[in-house]
Amino acid sequence: MIQDIEPYVFKNQFENIKPQNDDNVFVFREKNILLKKENEEISVPKVKDIMAKEDELIYLFAIDDKKYFLYLSDDDKAAELEGYDYEPLRFLRSAKPMELSFAGETAWHLNLWYRDNRFCGRCGHKTLHHTKERAMACPECGNVIYPKIAPAVIVGITDGDRIVITRYKGREYKGIALVAGFCEIGESMEATVRREIMEEVGLKVKNIRYYKSQPWGFDQNILAGYYCELDGDDNITRQEDELSVAEWVSRDELQEQTNIISLTAEMIENFRRNGI
Ligand SMILES: [Zn+2]
Repeated sequence: MIQDIEPYVFKNQFENIKPQNDDNVFVFREKNILLKKENEEISVPKVKDIMAKEDELIYLFAIDDKKYFLYLSDDDKAAELEGYDYEPLRFLRSAKPMELSFAGETAWHLNLWYRDNRFCGRCGHKTLHHTKERAMACPECGNVIYPKIAPAVIVGITDGDRIVITRYKGREYKGIALVAGFCEIGESMEATVRREIMEEVGLKVKNIRYYKSQPWGFDQNILAGYYCELDGDDNITRQEDELSVAEWVSRDELQEQTNIISLTAEMIENFRRNGI
């Protein structure tokens, strides 16, 4: 999956540090990321390439010893840079090297959070960057705003050698998917699993088991994957406004998932190869 970047090590401890010339910078404009493409590999600009004031760059994280900063700017001021192009964010899903794709989608998650918290939601005053932790602080009322991560579940519903496969309606992503949805306040993840299954495909399930999780910065999520088994009637009632397809597919009908970036793809491929 996209976060599995071994032998590289993702270091997300907060540090209040200044950018150096050779540090890397993520620049976003609308839903695009500034990249250079060379020999099938992507790279991002260095601090020295970007005409930015020091307070427009904030430290995000490091991968091994490579430090990454975010260029904080309004979209219309974002830099044009010779040799670099703005590519749609989804380009990262198939880009190499994967550690930079992972860094890019994680930077995007932080970028949205910084963008949306320039003012205090409690009193409306302009916020400041906290100097000791990853947070925005309001100097007027003392409100401290931490990064927002939305938990969601992905569910493989199985019945022997069959699994429920879905396709979303009206989204950019056109591939096959599994039942998925956000956790609501007051709900355990297992309760989310049951509710989302009932809403999307109208099935009852049993034996809910946790599989793996995935940080998914593209949509500001942390995803938890579960498998469960059909309990009773196998007749699918599709949620028509969310899904264009919801059907039982047998293991031998599933196509091999070759680009295992997402937890969804890993879970489908795991079922295709191993069953449950
Ligand atoms: Zn405030």
